[in-house]
Amino acid sequence: MAKRFYITTAIAYPNGRPHMGHALEIIQTDAIARFHRLLGRDVFFQTGTDEHGIKNWQTAQKEGKEIHSFLNENVGVFKELYEKCAISNDQFIRTTDNKMHYPGAIKLWNKLVESGDIYKKKYRGLYCSGCEIFKTEKELVEGKCPDHPTREITEVEEENYFFRLSRYKDQLKDILRNDEYKIVPDIRKNEILSFLDDARDISFSRPKTSLAWGIPVPGDDEHIMYVWCDALSNYITGAGYGRDEDQFASLWPADIHVIGKDILRFHAAFWPAMLISADIQLPKILFVHGFVLSEGTKMGKSTGNVIEPFEQIEKYGTDSFRFYILKAMSLAGDGEYSDALIKERINMDLVGNFSNFCYRVLSFTAKNYQSRITGIDDDPVIEEIREKFEVIKTAYESFDFKKAIQEILAVSDRGNGYFQRKEPWKCKETSGTILGTCVNICKNLAILIQPVMPGIAEQLKNQLGLKRLTWNDLGFDLKDHTIGQPEILLKRV
Ligand SMILES: [Zn+2]
Repeated sequence: MAKRFYITTAIAYPNGRPHMGHALEIIQTDAIARFHRLLGRDVFFQTGTDEHGIKNWQTAQKEGKEIHSFLNENVGVFKELYEKCAISNDQFIRTTDNKMHYPGAIKLWNKLVESGDIYKKKYRGLYCSGCEIFKTEKELVEGKCPDHPTREITEVEEENYFFRLSRYKDQLKDILRNDEYKIVPDIRKNEILSFLDDARDISFSRPKTSLAWGIPVPGDDEHIMYVWCDALSNYITGAGYGRDEDQFASLWPADIHVIGKDILRFHAAFWPAMLISADIQLPKILFVHGFVLSEGTKMGKSTGNVIEPFEQIEKYGTDSFRFYILKAMSLAGDGEYSDALIKERINMDLVGNFSNFCYRVLSFTAKNYQSRITGIDDDPVIEEIREKFEVIKTAYESFDFKKAIQEILAVSDRGNGYFQRKEPWKCKETSGTILGTCVNICKNLAILIQPVMPGIAEQLKNQLGLKRLTWNDLGFDLKDHTIGQPEILLKRV
């Protein structure tokens, strides 16, 4: 079976409602998946939820809900958001799924044991129940976890299983340095290389008495797998590991994992070390995105600057929301989100430039040429636009959505400039070929924008009277063609 193009998001922790960060990650991953489908690749896109762990358990208790119905309810809200964002995932994995997920998680644990990388030891440490992780003194600020300043840090002594991360740190550094497992952007690669300098073994289980909600450690019912083997393993279990080895062979290694910068360590150090230990191939690329900021800071209940993704989609529509969130993020940093900013981008970029050009061209063609084009005007604008195709492709391939979108807008800007300069309204008898060139520009725009705004691309495709959009169809070869019914794509907000 041919290897499929396998792309994943991190699995979300559903102990509350999804926030803007979830929307960002799922939309970025969806745009990558759609781009590779446009190129003709056989894409498999997985997302899902990380459903074990003490926080889910405690939140369910606090809300007085049975754990399964609590999770089902919250997972339902995540799925609803993904639907509203027009996400095209092929699979949704839940770590509580004992048919899809458990067999592979257990198999992975056993492999790590066989390699001699799991051992038991007594451990005393400072535990943050918010992070569900032991902290070092160095990581605390005034004795509190910087991410959970309202929670008490407790000193816990336990006997746990550990994973020998330290054994792999030098091998991992080589692998990351030479991009065998490529971390994008570079800033994150440097960050993880310095973390690996003093990487220590990691706690890999919890006693059942302190964490009962999880997958039991094989052969030791007193212990529950800690999040690493339980959650990170979703990338292989969803692909068939431990359950359907043929499917696994067709999907693994993953081509791209998409994650946020706050979970870099787990994916760039713990996860590849586990895979090496289990003799499983490494994923190819780890793309690490930043945070969606509001008023310059990370959104949070305590700062009172939370912007709700559901509300934004309701207000501005799916495609405009996707457009803005993808354009707002710089490749190596964070992105600012506000009502004023999204409105400005919709009005200036989408309505003033993109949508305006398409409607002008298509309505002019419908009105003056019975919706037909019969040739193109061989103007230098054609070459200028052709040169953009490769630039935009490279931008998509390197996850630089901001750049891809800027270049697409430059294409419609060139189109507008060309239309304005040629003044086809002055002599309709001789201007048919000008519209021919413009219709081709619209076609190219529909293809190029499809990963970002699939709904708008589909409408434009229909207005252009096209049967399909693929990357191969880019170009200026529509010469004898009838368009469909023009309509305004987007309106001012
Ligand atoms: Zn914490």
